[in-house]
Order: sequence, then C-alpha cells, then structure tokens
Amino acid sequence: MGFFTVLHADSSCRGRTGELALPHGRLSTPAFMPVGTNAAVKALSKGDLEEIGFEIILSNTYHLYLRPGTDVIGAAGGLHRFMGWDRNILTDSGGYQVFSLAPFRKISPEGVQFRSHIDGAAHFLSPEKAVDIQALLGSDIQMQLDYCTGFGVSRKEAEEALDITGRWLSRARSRWLEQRGRGYGGELFAIVQGNFFADLRERSAAFCAGADTPGIAIGGLSVGERPEVFFEYLNLTAALLPQDKPRYVMGIGTPAYILGAIEAGIDMFDCVAPTREGRNGRAYTGRGPLSIKKAENLMDFSPIDEGCPCKVCRTYSRSYLRHLFKTREILCSMLLSYHNLFFLHDLVKKARQALAEDRFLYFKKEFLSRYQEGSHA
Ligand SMILES: [Zn+2]
Repeated sequence: MGFFTVLHADSSCRGRTGELALPHGRLSTPAFMPVGTNAAVKALSKGDLEEIGFEIILSNTYHLYLRPGTDVIGAAGGLHRFMGWDRNILTDSGGYQVFSLAPFRKISPEGVQFRSHIDGAAHFLSPEKAVDIQALLGSDIQMQLDYCTGFGVSRKEAEEALDITGRWLSRARSRWLEQRGRGYGGELFAIVQGNFFADLRERSAAFCAGADTPGIAIGGLSVGERPEVFFEYLNLTAALLPQDKPRYVMGIGTPAYILGAIEAGIDMFDCVAPTREGRNGRAYTGRGPLSIKKAENLMDFSPIDEGCPCKVCRTYSRSYLRHLFKTREILCSMLLSYHNLFFLHDLVKKARQALAEDRFLYFKKEFLSRYQEGSHA
C-alpha cells in the first residue's frame, strides 16, 4: 500500500477524503496548511498550531536557505528541531520565490541564477540542489524545482517553461531517490505547469503522472487570473491527474477558493491569507469577512463569530479587539490570526465530514450562501 489512501469519494462531485502516512504522523485530507515562511507561522506559537489541530505546516525553502542558512538548520538537526515542531512540514522548492522576490534571475536548462532580495548576493539553484536543501531541512513533503510563469505570457514562453520544468522533474526525482537511499524519509511532489493553455496543461499533467512521484501539485494558478479562469484550469488539470495520488494546489486560502478546490478533487492547499488578514484587522466569520476597526464594533461586546468555538471567540469581544487594533497592540495580530486559522481548519474539517456523507455540494452551497449574503468587509 502506498503512502496515500483515498478513504471515500463523494458521489456528487470529484471531492474525496483521504489519508497520508508521513514521517511525522498521519495527515487527514482535504487539509489546509498554514504557511510558516521564516520557520514561523506569523503571530502563532507551536502550541497554538497544535491546539487548533494542524497536522502539517508549510515553510519556504528560499527564505530559510538565505536566512538563517542551511548550515544553521543542519547543525540544529533539521527544521523540525530548529523550530520545535514535531508534526509534518511541507517545503516548496524555492523556485516560486526566486521568480517573485529576487531582484535578478537568469534561467538556463541547468538551473536558475539569482540574487538575494536581502543583500544582493549571487546564488544558484538547480533541481538537484533544491532536493538536497529540502532533504537537509528534513521536509516530510518536498517540491520539485519548477519554472512558474505569470498570467498573460505568450504560448512560446509557457511551452519553454513547461519543457524546462519537465526536465527538472526527472533530475529532481533521480536525486530524491538517491536521498531516499541514504535514509531520507520525505516524499517528492511533481508540479504541473502549462499556464493557461489547455493542451500544455494536458501535456504537463501526463508527464507528471508518468514520472512516478508520490504526489502531484498544480502550479501556475492563482497568479493574477480571474476566479472563473482559475476554476476552469483547476478543474481541467485536476481531472487529468491519477486518482491514487494526492493533489496539491498552491497558494489558495479564502473559503470560496478552498471549497471550490475540494469540489475539484484537491487534497491539500496552503495560503498566507488567514494570518495576513489577521494582522490587517480582518477576521473570517460564518457571515463573511469582518473588519474589526469599523466604528460599529466600538460598543459591540459580542465575539467575532457567535458560532466559532475557538478560545478567542470564547474570551474576547469585538469591542476589545477593535481597541487592541486601534492601539496597535501585538495581541490583536495574535488573536485574529489564531481565530482565522481555527476558522479555516474547522471549515475543512466540516468539509471532510460532508464528503464522507456524500453531501459536499449541499454543504458548500449552504456555507457560501450565508458567507456571501452576510459579507460586510
Ligand atoms: Zn473564533
């Protein structure tokens, strides 16, 4: 038996529940993964994350490679020990940040040369090096180095990126097998590219399916396209992927996107949105997003969300949280980020239950009609 098991496929859509057996414990899917860019989920402690119930978090190879550097994390005994987290960690390859953050980069079939956005120092990342760094971090799931293109690029550029990504996958897999031979226990996911060209998506999905990695990620989405375009290409790509492998879509985190991805048969997703929104004074509620700074919260002594059982909602009022936001107290970011992550974790848990009972589409419709109807962002 492989490391992924589909437990139940909902009869009304492509969504399914499943389970991954990973080095740091089981992961129930669908699963939302909080993002810990610098080996920290912003404003939350390890205890908070455990209390909410997260079985996996994501961290960014690019950031950790530049600061504190692999020598420090290696000496600490890996990322889990360095940050005191003994559940699972997924890391990206660093490719996406090289493309989005580095002030300079040059891509060749060999790899990508870039300059650090911190101090301008020159670095080189190859598919093999990305695997080695992630193995040193001790990632439970690592990503291949890929070449991500933005919305609106030419077909020629999309095709070139796709070919390079494919060649990088074969090289990443060979190096990953070598690392496994030396005792590394983490899994490797391939990444589907192809931009917004259906035939390129098909070609990339077929290549990834044939490459025999434990899981497959769908990359190159949520890069500036409209929601209907996102869902068109998400559904098209997800339908081309093998049933018996976990599917991960990168960078989505609003309730509507999460539920849409689950419906398309996606098992894993991540986003910085819940903690970033929290730091900006916005909270998710069953009736839509809430902006805590609004004057209407001044004398409102009710919780953020009456229906939320989290410790923030059981303890603090909207009026108090508004006061914390207005006085720039750090506690405000901590409490709103905690609630937002709890809210999404709870939403995905309820979605898993609905999938198991073949009523996911009904659950999604009910949730979104309340969420949008009550929206007061
Ligand atoms: Zn709450």
